[in-house]
Amino acid sequence: MTTRRTTTRRPTPRRTATLRPLYARLDGATVEEIPFHAGDGTRIGLTRVSRGHQDRPAVLLLHGHTASSDMFVQPETRNLVEALLDEGYEPWLLDWRGSCRLPYNETGRRYTYDDVALYDIPAAVSYIRQRLDGRPLFAVAHCIGALSLSMSMTAGLVPGLAGVVAQGVFLTPKLAGRTSLKMTVAGELFRSRFDHIPVDFRKVGFRSRYTALFALASRGADCPDPTCQILCNSAWGVGASLYVHDNLSDATHDRLAELLGPAPLWILPHLRRVSLARSVVRWNQDDHRYRALPENALDAAGRIDCPVLLISGSENGMWLDSQKLCHEVLASRQPQLDVRYAEIPGYGHFDAFVGRGAALDVFGHILEFLGERV
Ligand SMILES: [Zn+2]
Repeated sequence: MTTRRTTTRRPTPRRTATLRPLYARLDGATVEEIPFHAGDGTRIGLTRVSRGHQDRPAVLLLHGHTASSDMFVQPETRNLVEALLDEGYEPWLLDWRGSCRLPYNETGRRYTYDDVALYDIPAAVSYIRQRLDGRPLFAVAHCIGALSLSMSMTAGLVPGLAGVVAQGVFLTPKLAGRTSLKMTVAGELFRSRFDHIPVDFRKVGFRSRYTALFALASRGADCPDPTCQILCNSAWGVGASLYVHDNLSDATHDRLAELLGPAPLWILPHLRRVSLARSVVRWNQDDHRYRALPENALDAAGRIDCPVLLISGSENGMWLDSQKLCHEVLASRQPQLDVRYAEIPGYGHFDAFVGRGAALDVFGHILEFLGERV
């Protein structure tokens, strides 16, 4: 078996048909990048990381929207993939169509989370299963990755998972109030002029059509970094906060523009609909291709067939107490389900995976949950 180390070199910015290489440090591991397409033919990314153990359970990791699998393999801190490898698991990383590693992330065709739930996640689960030869498969998902997974699960498209960990949000999305307001007002405003909200101020520059947006995001911000301001103080201009600032290492803070890409504004209507419904609801109501998905995932929660661990930072500035709400609603409506909730004190949202102390404060909850079910 060959061992190939993926380095932290910065890839050239030229347009390419392949995924941007991972910014990873995976000592002694085999990294297998699989040419992969979703159920509708869209090129997405699937990566298997292994240390050669063929008898351990696999864990599928799902990133958040505009992030990528890089959030699970960051080299500057102990990352989740390392922690899983050390415990003997085989991590699989899916770069679904909202990944900033994909070459078309700013230019590809528009989609909704229905497409992720229907085409991306089930195709990945199906492929991985073929490779596992009967071994169990878990999933650990963050933010929109978890929200989309909830739709796949309640549609019955990914049956038989050994367990699911959902971070930040799952079946009951509850966006920050400020976020909802800004999505209604500023979202409509910006949508007429912009297609994406950028995060990398170095690329945008001081004088551009985005200047006013960055200026808005800087109001009241403690940190002078414009990229950080638009993420921590504004969440791409929609008014939420993605992380607790002090939880990031300096190295992670300096590479936020690598970890999180521009946010497409055309996704806002679907996000607004799920937030207003307090449930993951299907966007495509009349298109027969999406009939496999439930109109309302929360109403179909009885189809969940595996244990679920809901986790969230106590200071989640994006999805607030969505996970606590989800736990309460499921305990009431679906008491037969094995659903737990763990709140991480002092954490926000994105820092639950990329924070400098995440290995100590967060990963233990995940490993304990997996370990009980192996
Ligand atoms: Zn900052």
